[in-house]
Amino acid sequence: MVGIPGVGKTTLLSKIVEIIKKHGKSVHVVSFGTLMCDVAKKNGLHDRDELRKLPITEQQNLQKITAEKIAALTEQVIIIDTHVFINSPGGYYPGLPENVLKIIKPTNFVSISAKPEEIYNRRMKDDTRNRDKITVTNIKKELDIQAGMISACSVITGSPVKFINNREGKIDETAEKIINAVGV
Ligand code: ATP
Ligand code: MG
Repeated sequence: MVGIPGVGKTTLLSKIVEIIKKHGKSVHVVSFGTLMCDVAKKNGLHDRDELRKLPITEQQNLQKITAEKIAALTEQVIIIDTHVFINSPGGYYPGLPENVLKIIKPTNFVSISAKPEEIYNRRMKDDTRNRDKITVTNIKKELDIQAGMISACSVITGSPVKFINNREGKIDETAEKIINAVGV
């Protein structure tokens, strides 16, 4: 499951986990960023928001180790909560480059979107993160990059991508739509 910050991935996933458990399946949600941060902390990093400022070769190495940890999970349903690109000083860096996709082999992609103004407001509500400068214009641009990056993931893996609009106040409905699309 991918989407730009504040689009609602983590919120949707807590609902989705409830539904999958009701269906009697074992499920594991893994935040790629959090797991990668844990790996990085063992290598001396302190703050999550420092991750994307590391040299690309270091990020690539941490990504690979993280992907290998995810590939080793054994639950029936494994959902990765991730950004499909990261704002790095050199430009947009892929959250799921080809080598990572080859390790984790995703069966489905879900790309979460919402109205730029809604994403803006959702980001403003959450002041726990050290975010980049937020404007609606920037959010629109990020949604375009997201669409391009996730399409590339689909082509590389041959797995389908479902585009989902996380409408304001419609978390339950949106979670059901995702479950039906992926078939879990
Ligand atoms: P990040 O990439 O930064 O982790 P995220 O995609 O996981 O972001 P969330 O933390 O799930 O985003 O949601 C951001 C905020 O938006 C939260 O305050 C959440 O309650 C709110 N939110 C999410 N979905 C909806 C919705 N459909 N309607 C209203 N508010 C929502
Ligand atoms: Mg989140």
